[in-house]
Amino acid sequence: MSIQIGEFELTVVSGGELRIDGGNMFGVVPKVLWQRKYEPDDRNRIAMNTNCLLVKTPDGTVLIDTGYGSKCTERQRKILALQEGAPLLENLRALGMDPIDVNQVLLTHLHFDHAGGATMMNDAGVPCPTFPNARYSVQQEEWDDATADRPELAGAYFKEDFLPIADQDKLNLLQGDSEVIPGIRVMKTGGHTRGHQIVYIESKGETAVYLADLCPLVGHLPDMWSMAYDQFPLETRRTKPKVLSEAADKDWLVIFGHDADINTGRLIRNKKGELVVVRDALPIG
Ligand SMILES: [Zn+2]
Repeated sequence: MSIQIGEFELTVVSGGELRIDGGNMFGVVPKVLWQRKYEPDDRNRIAMNTNCLLVKTPDGTVLIDTGYGSKCTERQRKILALQEGAPLLENLRALGMDPIDVNQVLLTHLHFDHAGGATMMNDAGVPCPTFPNARYSVQQEEWDDATADRPELAGAYFKEDFLPIADQDKLNLLQGDSEVIPGIRVMKTGGHTRGHQIVYIESKGETAVYLADLCPLVGHLPDMWSMAYDQFPLETRRTKPKVLSEAADKDWLVIFGHDADINTGRLIRNKKGELVVVRDALPIG
């Protein structure tokens, strides 16, 4: 089901389901609190999705994030309960979309669950860009960190997810806040990673904001609920409330990067002043 924002048509497309340890997802929040909202399985994992966003605009078709793709190892699949096959491509095809139809790919950051689907193995077993006609945009700082081989970031990035993009000259490095095509702009938030960015989609006075890992689950709406994975947690705590407050005040559509149940919604404040998601004006969380 798609959502209209002005002239733009937005569709959330799953890049694959996954399960991640609930403690990793909620950082300093005690389990007794988070397990009321996200029931862990017998391995303490909670059910999540990778919510990619397809945006059709008069100036081209944009895909925001790409899920984990089809190159994961058997070990990763088991630990994170990843889906077999190529979930993003299968879900795009079910919508009648072919990879050649995508003109722009925006990567919020280069972790495997966002950038893994950006490349795929060709018939010769060589990783190559999944969307052959697209330019791929990412923050310069994110690219620098992902390619730097820093010991403190060991295991955070898999180069076959993104080096083929540069090798084939399809890379567009962004320097901070930028407009990528008319009506689609990014804001560098840092926080989760140094070069993490969120995406604003604006058409005819309407706005949607793709939150990626600034607020991956509805459960991350409270200021202090953030991921143990955040490299700069205080930056997330500073930036996230500003973005979410503005979204609530201006009635923007928000898209959560990983929530398995509520991937889009609008925000209001309840009587206690806490942000909650509403859909059809009925509070859900
Ligand atoms: Zn993520």
